Amino acid sequence: MVGLKGAQRLRRSLSQICLHVLLFGLLTPLPGDGQDPQWGSRTFEPVRAAIHVHSSYSTGDESLREIAEQARANGLAVLILTDDDLLEVSYGLPPWSRLLRVTQSEEALFTDNRLEAYLDEIRQLDASFEDLVIIDGVESAPYYTWDVDWAQRRWTVRGWNKHLLAIGLDSADAYRGLPVLGGDGMWLPQDGSAVLRMLWPVLGLFYALWLGRRMHGTVLRLLVASICLLFLLDGSLGDFRVARFDANVDTGPQPYQAWIDAVAAADGLSFWAHPEAALTIPAHSVAGIVEVHSQTPAHAGDLLATQGYTGFAALYADNVTATEPGREWDQTLIEYLQGRRARPSWGMGEIDYHRQERGAELHDIQTVLFVEERSRQGVLEALTHGRAYAVRGGDEALQLQRFVATTVVGEAVAGQQVSTAGKPWTVSAVIDKANGTTEVVDLRLVRGTAQGQVEVVARLSGSTPLHVEHVETRLPQDEQCYFRLLVTSRTSILTSNPIFLRGTD
Ligand SMILES: [Zn+2]
Repeated sequence: MVGLKGAQRLRRSLSQICLHVLLFGLLTPLPGDGQDPQWGSRTFEPVRAAIHVHSSYSTGDESLREIAEQARANGLAVLILTDDDLLEVSYGLPPWSRLLRVTQSEEALFTDNRLEAYLDEIRQLDASFEDLVIIDGVESAPYYTWDVDWAQRRWTVRGWNKHLLAIGLDSADAYRGLPVLGGDGMWLPQDGSAVLRMLWPVLGLFYALWLGRRMHGTVLRLLVASICLLFLLDGSLGDFRVARFDANVDTGPQPYQAWIDAVAAADGLSFWAHPEAALTIPAHSVAGIVEVHSQTPAHAGDLLATQGYTGFAALYADNVTATEPGREWDQTLIEYLQGRRARPSWGMGEIDYHRQERGAELHDIQTVLFVEERSRQGVLEALTHGRAYAVRGGDEALQLQRFVATTVVGEAVAGQQVSTAGKPWTVSAVIDKANGTTEVVDLRLVRGTAQGQVEVVARLSGSTPLHVEHVETRLPQDEQCYFRLLVTSRTSILTSNPIFLRGTD
């Protein structure tokens, strides 16, 4: 649990913010919220969240209740469940890709109306576990493409392990409406074009069986009739609808962008899961005839190729490089400062939990959220605004006692922005261990600017509790920059969201 002193200190510093805002009205929340820019009497409480959790509804082993009990026992206050929506890979042979289709699937939320039961059970548990906020979500694999080498009889599915998390949609219809290859949401709405598309096979059939009787031989007419019939049959299997994206045509980031946009339209939050997870599943032979491979390279570039998502996994079980100074995360934040991106992308800690095992527990990787209230709405609001840091290390986790930018106007914590009013400002941080022990940590304070410069402006090593104070003198009118923290120790890693500063005179 977070030390009470830290929480009190945070509240104290935040109550100072409120005072300043009332006086100057210059501290503003970042876009993506539509909220009142006045902070009023807001105070924030740090709460620990486990994000990206699988239960026995999909690939996990434990029931939702068992997981909730573990979350409680491990001192977590928030549990965000993300069972897989659809686990299905299929190959359809063009041009009759519905008729001639091989599908491999496993049970997941979209199978057998499990989604409705899953959402109901989450609501019930959220109501019955008073000390826990339990929020619904799904893990999606929206898209993949097929690369077929006919000569080698080798089929390669690419991108199957590009995953995203949709959180807080709360409605089975909304989840089912997301464009996921093989799911209902991937179909374009039925319109008149289906009639036009199916007109030629109908005419062809008519010609082959009747009009062309005198002109062509029986064999040719039967061949034409069969082909037309196959097209009609294939169309009827999909109710003559058209899918937005096709696994046989690689459309780059578009299907992911469509998925992100659909989550936003349903008032949900979207996060890229494990963007650097590279996975190659070696070939397996199907009936001794063809070989099937699965390949997903590390794809942190998708953080830049897509827009409008809430955030991404900045910390998870693998090694992460997208958060290193100047890499993909900073590049997205700079695009935001330059006005080329409507919102910043926030980092979160992702546990990707499936079962309790030695060396893998529910609280090993956490997202610590600064919430206004311990409720579903409070948690979603903090996640939306990036008032959070990610930490790895379980019982040995580091903790951010303080990370604040202080100007003459006010103060801002991670996820917030404060103006400089033409005067010098300070960024200060205090790192300690959640369990109160002492450990040597290595801290980097990273600054990014709208000019595209990313720099480690302070680097220091020392024992916890480690204090750092960094002073800057001037930020020109209307210029913006941000500061974020990267901290490592032998047992833990901590990655904070940025604090933004805006130059005003
Ligand atoms: Zn995944």
